[in-house]
Amino acid sequence: MFDYHVHSEFSADCTVTMRESCLAAIAAGITEIAFTDHVEHQHTDLGYGYYRIEDYFASVRAVQEEFEGQIRILRGAEVDFHTDTYDMVKTFIDANGQRYDFVIGSVHYGDNAQIIFQEYFEGKTADDVIYPYFDQLEAAIRTGWFDTIGHLDIPKRYFPKNLREYNPARYQERIEKLFAALIETDTAFEINTSGLRQTPKASMPGPAIVRWYVEAGGKLITTGTDSHAAQTIGAGLTKTLDMLTLCGIAQIGSFRERERTLVDIASLRSVDAAH
Ligand SMILES: [Zn+2]
Ligand SMILES: [Zn+2]
Repeated sequence: MFDYHVHSEFSADCTVTMRESCLAAIAAGITEIAFTDHVEHQHTDLGYGYYRIEDYFASVRAVQEEFEGQIRILRGAEVDFHTDTYDMVKTFIDANGQRYDFVIGSVHYGDNAQIIFQEYFEGKTADDVIYPYFDQLEAAIRTGWFDTIGHLDIPKRYFPKNLREYNPARYQERIEKLFAALIETDTAFEINTSGLRQTPKASMPGPAIVRWYVEAGGKLITTGTDSHAAQTIGAGLTKTLDMLTLCGIAQIGSFRERERTLVDIASLRSVDAAH
């Protein structure tokens, strides 16, 4: 199985070392892991300026050497995107994009660059949150800078109680425009399993959205746990592969030096069963 969304001590919100995560991943039957630390571009973000790129790459090289032959370790990044920070993100991607195996583009801020946390939702309807968020996501996809798009419907994870009635069917038309952009730019989106262990109790996104994507002709999916702790590495991936298979996705993305290949889920599942 592939865990393509794992944070390490190079993210401000994580203290787990890459070494601890690799040991946990091997124990969980993970065959490929991507360390995708936050690359923040919002000045107000707690993690702004935290990422130390050269130390990050040195740390990946060290675990690649230590665990050679046991697990494939990818150089990854979770790059925060917003149209307000477009030029900064572009500068980062132009300078460093090709140094990675795999780059996730994620939107963590809503309109007016306000953070997607509790105060952001005050006085807003679900539509007030979702539509501007999807506009940002579409802008991120249209750049063509990213291999995959992180946690496609993340607002559902942070919705306060009064907005928890989120139903993706309400946004189907808007989401289908996102799919068109994904397909045109040859960009994947991830199934982020962290939602399974948090409030929404469903992956981000869940099966309804995956089915619409398949109907639209989409084939490019990546899988990741968004782990900030060693014990969640690999969590929910088997369930996710089952869900994808039921939805008509037969393969998932594997990356090396920003080049994608598609791997049969059936072959991964036999690896999983062997553990
Ligand atoms: Zn994220
Ligand atoms: Zn993340």
